[in-house]
Formats: sequence, structure tokens, C-alpha cells
Amino acid sequence: MPDSVPQRFSDPAALRHCMAAWREAGERIVLVPTMGALHRGHLALVAEAQRIGDRAVVSIFVNPTQFGPNEDFSRYPRDLEVDLARLGEVGTDAAWTPTVETMYPPGFASRIEVVGLSEGLCGPFRPGHFAGVATVVTKLLNQVRPDVALFGEKDFQQLRVIQQAVADLDIGVEIRGVPTLREPDGLALSSRNRYLSPEERAIAPKLHGVLAEIALASRNGTGVAGRIAAGRAALEAAGFRVQYLTVCDARTLAPVERVDGPARVLVAAFLGRTRLIDNLAV
Ligand code: AMP
Repeated sequence: MPDSVPQRFSDPAALRHCMAAWREAGERIVLVPTMGALHRGHLALVAEAQRIGDRAVVSIFVNPTQFGPNEDFSRYPRDLEVDLARLGEVGTDAAWTPTVETMYPPGFASRIEVVGLSEGLCGPFRPGHFAGVATVVTKLLNQVRPDVALFGEKDFQQLRVIQQAVADLDIGVEIRGVPTLREPDGLALSSRNRYLSPEERAIAPKLHGVLAEIALASRNGTGVAGRIAAGRAALEAAGFRVQYLTVCDARTLAPVERVDGPARVLVAAFLGRTRLIDNLAV
């Protein structure tokens, strides 16, 4: 029912009690994990949750363990009241808003490490990031115990890492990807877009433009190396500092020279102080 505030839980026992009641009533629970600062991309995940389930649960937790020491944890945008109002407008059933102390009490000592999939792409640039993500998502899945959890294809490596962890650890939840929601000029919606200056915001859609060119050119089995070099040069000329621009196997995320199966072109680049990532299916 739109425009009602979602039931908000900060206490794990209260959350578990509510989730158990819904499960016992035969309701299909769909979880959308987020770090808040909600935008229309997040709300597209909530809409999908409502479409495929009976109860849409959104977690909001800015997870300290997935940020590196020089990353934006302390300045990451946080506005819980605005987020809850937005979730209410679209009729979210419950918001799970644990504190850092609830998630990581003194003595917390475990970590989920997904080898292989975590090691390429963002891995070398963000040491420990995917272990932080896999660990917190495992906790969220165990807390909520949803039937399905939704993740954006925007964070494609994250989606694959979580699918692998859930399969390996028999967590018993279906992980589904949701296509990336974009601005009309192609820029993928992201909580970090608000860091961009007006000048940077004008340049930012170039990222999607280059991905689209490479995806199109790589489709017919031609080599990708030349296209990638040209795309990288175009981004650097526009003012980006490119960390990686690569075409990978969509399942293993291993780089491919030639596309002969499901593949993805992925990029990470800094624009000023803001790190942007994006990807497209080839
Ligand atoms: P975040 O709050 O950035 O951790 O994102 C929470 C979830 O929303 C993740 O599964 C993201 O992949 C997803 N997401 C972020 N931006 C978008 C977007 N533009 N379109 C679709 N999903 C997104």
C-alpha cells in the first residue's frame, strides 16, 4: 500500500519474529540490500521485489568493512528519514536498519572470502572490499531469510560474487540481478553521482557511451583489444582516470580476447575524486 511508512526494525529479534510470521503465512519474502541514499535505481529493485514477492524488505546499512581506509565511508551520504519516506511512497513492507554494533559486536571474527571472482576487476583496487560485501550480505540473508534477494547489475562483480557465495555455502536463497537504471543521457544512477561537480556530471555519460561502442563492436567475434585501447584513450582524453576497461566472460569474469559466449564490458574510472563503475552486456 503506497504512502505508508514501512515497518522499521533495528533489533534482530524483532525482525526475525516478523519475518517468521510472514513466512508461516506462506508469504514470499524478497530482500533488497542497500546502503541507503536511495535513488530511482534502488526503487526499481523494490518494484521488482513487489512484482515477484508478497513482502518487500529493504535493508539499509552502510557497511564499514567494505570500505578501504582511503575510501568514502565517513562521507558516504546518509539520510535515513528521507530514505524511509521514499520507501513508504513505493509501499515497502519493512526496512531493516541495523547499527554497526548489532552487525559487528565486539569479538566478531568471521569473514567470507570468494576467491577467483573477487580477484580481478575492482579486486586489486579495493583490497578486502568483496570479502566485506560477501560477509555482510551473508549476515543480511541469514537475518531476513528471504526467498529471493535482488542485486543490481550495475555492480556486476558484486552480483557474481554473491551468487557464488550463496551457492557455495548452501544459503538457500535465490539471487537475482536487476538491469541498471540510467539517466536519459546514459549515466547509471548511483549514490555517488551526487559527488560530481556540474562539469564532471556533464562528462560522466561518456562512460556509458564508450561501453556501448565496445559492446556493439565486440558482438560479432572480432578482437576486442583495439576497441578497448581506443575506448580507454577516449575516456582519458575526456578527463577520466581509468582503472580498468575490459571485456570479460559474464560468468567467470575472466578477460576474453574474442567474444564467443555471454560477455560483459566493464569499467571503473575516477572523475575527479569520484570513482564510477559501469558495465553492459555484449
Ligand atoms: P548500494 O546502496 O549502492 O549498495 O546499492 C544497493 C543495490 O542497488 C545494489 O544491488 C546495487 O547494484 C543496486 N543499484 C545501484 N544503482 C543501481 C542502478 N542504477 N540500477 C539498478 N540497481 C542499482
